[in-house]
This record gives sequence, structure tokens and C-alpha cells, in this order.
Amino acid sequence: MGFEKFGKHGYVSHAKVAPIVDYLKKGELAGTKCLECDSLYFPPKADCPKCRSTKFDWVPLNENCKLITFTEVFFAPPEFQKETPYLLGLAELEEGPRVFAPIDSRITRDYLKPGALLALHPSTNENGAFYQLEKREQNYLRKR
Ligand SMILES: [Zn+2]
Repeated sequence: MGFEKFGKHGYVSHAKVAPIVDYLKKGELAGTKCLECDSLYFPPKADCPKCRSTKFDWVPLNENCKLITFTEVFFAPPEFQKETPYLLGLAELEEGPRVFAPIDSRITRDYLKPGALLALHPSTNENGAFYQLEKREQNYLRKR
């Protein structure tokens, strides 16, 4: 058959972009850049949907992003169902790509306005590597 895991574990062949897990484990964000048309992707894509090229390179990305919008998730894929309800944000990275990511549960809803300053922060837990939207570090503002 071959599709036993389809829909249960988000089973899609992502072998060419698997290095993203290593970047996240190191606490780094990296996307892919199409070598034909310079399109930048996060989450990374090995095959460019714009020009169909399969040539790409890894590029480091800045965590800084701004909130576009968010929603509350009550029904999630099975592996995330026990986390529900949770907030899922759409944010735009400074480099341009837009990404869906869970929002740090410590952020209160009154902070979640369009344009709110966030950071797409890589992290790890017992389930593996992931990323989430967190409040942007404001340390540089506190320094005098
Ligand atoms: Zn391209």
C-alpha cells in the first residue's frame, strides 16, 4: 500500500529538506533559496513552486517577524490534538517568507495585534525540534 501513515503523521517525503531539523536543534533558523529565481522559502522547499527549479541552497534567516493574524485551533492533527486549544499565528519574517507557527502560550491575547513584534524561535522538546512564535527579545532596549 504505502499510504498507511498518510494523514496520521503528516507523512510526506521531505528527505531533501530534512537538514532543517539539524538547524533547529542548533537553535538556528534556515530557509531555502532557489538558485534560479532567488525565491526564499520558509518552511524550506527543495522544489521551487514559482520556476520549478530543483536547485537550491540553505540560507540563515533572522528570527524577527511581525504578526499578520492568528486563530485558535480546537481540532488539530493527531500529534498536536492534546495541545488544543492553542493559538496558531501567521507571521512575516523580515526576509519576506510568511510562516504558520504555534504561538508561545505565555503571550497574552492583548499583545496579539497585527504588526506585533515577534520572533520565530527554534526549540526542542521530547517530541523533537520545532519552532514557535515568541515575544521578541527586548534586551537591547533595556541597555543604557
Ligand atoms: Zn525558483
